[in-house]
Amino acid sequence: MVVKDITNIIESFAPLALQESYDNAGLLVGSSSMEVNGVLLCLDVTEEVIDEAISLKTNLIISHHPLIFDGLKKITGHNAEQRCVIKAIKNDIAIYAAHTNIDNVLEGVNGKIADKIGLINRSILQPKHGTLLKLATFVPKLHVQRVREAIFEAGGGAVGNYDACSFNVEGYGSFRPNSNAHPFVGDLNKVHYEDEVKIEVIFPYFIQEQVVNSMIKSHPYEEPAFDLILLNNSYKEVGAGILGEVAEHEDERKFLDRLKKVLNISVIRHTKFLGNKIKKVAICGGAGSFLLSDAIIAGADIFISADFKYHEFFKAENKILIADPGHFETEQFTKEIFYEIIQKKLPTFAVHISKINTNPIIYL
Ligand SMILES: [Zn+2]
Repeated sequence: MVVKDITNIIESFAPLALQESYDNAGLLVGSSSMEVNGVLLCLDVTEEVIDEAISLKTNLIISHHPLIFDGLKKITGHNAEQRCVIKAIKNDIAIYAAHTNIDNVLEGVNGKIADKIGLINRSILQPKHGTLLKLATFVPKLHVQRVREAIFEAGGGAVGNYDACSFNVEGYGSFRPNSNAHPFVGDLNKVHYEDEVKIEVIFPYFIQEQVVNSMIKSHPYEEPAFDLILLNNSYKEVGAGILGEVAEHEDERKFLDRLKKVLNISVIRHTKFLGNKIKKVAICGGAGSFLLSDAIIAGADIFISADFKYHEFFKAENKILIADPGHFETEQFTKEIFYEIIQKKLPTFAVHISKINTNPIIYL
């Protein structure tokens, strides 16, 4: 087992391409080909967490927050971030982070909180734009099925609860092979007309390589013709925040009491009660105040997120109840997601959840 085998499992769940442009998710310290003898899962990499990895004899740390975020210009041990890098390298420990990429998938950070609260009818609160591509290719009639199936197998044409989605229209194509060509059909230096079918499918950009390669591999032509077009449609399965519903309406106070129990916290910051019943719930684990207007527009009764500033609480404007249980508190279950996805693929592998509480905020 090498680092890449483990990180591939994480990335098949939360592709790195889904991270935000400001982020630094991925392998941060160490080599992807290093042999791994165990994994330690945490929210933040601290010196104590690296010590824990050393004592557990695990040499791969997977965290939610990237240890290196703004970039390092010196590694002299001047601050904790640099000391962590030095300690990890000295002890042959690799460090990997899955950050906004695991925020942006439906079953990710917010999906896990929604599981704990028991939300149904879930959708992404702010779907990501510019994520979908359309592939159109032109295939001789007798080979259509083979090419179409190869595209489907690579993940093309999967939309929400449907897969194998395509549009197919018959026509004919023309081409003239020159003397150096090896045409599948037709004669050299003669214009050929062939009955063809145009297959159109859509898929997210992060599987572009596998879909296009699969299409080219199964296509009988020496030079398959195809169009790859970036769509402006939003992709409903990835993006920021989550929206869901509780099975039964709940009193605001009761809901917050239940939320405190779920998150195992003794205090929660919130705006004034509006006398509404809680039905629709918007969630964004970590800093999510930028999604407040999306939550209001979506008709959510409550928006659960963290890192709200004083003035941002005013923006609830009696339209929604804002509840801020804290950054660490809303992301605490992320370690469980890592654990579950690795265990599912490698049930006997040594995977540990860190016992260190890395929350830098303490309530008296
Ligand atoms: Zn966070």
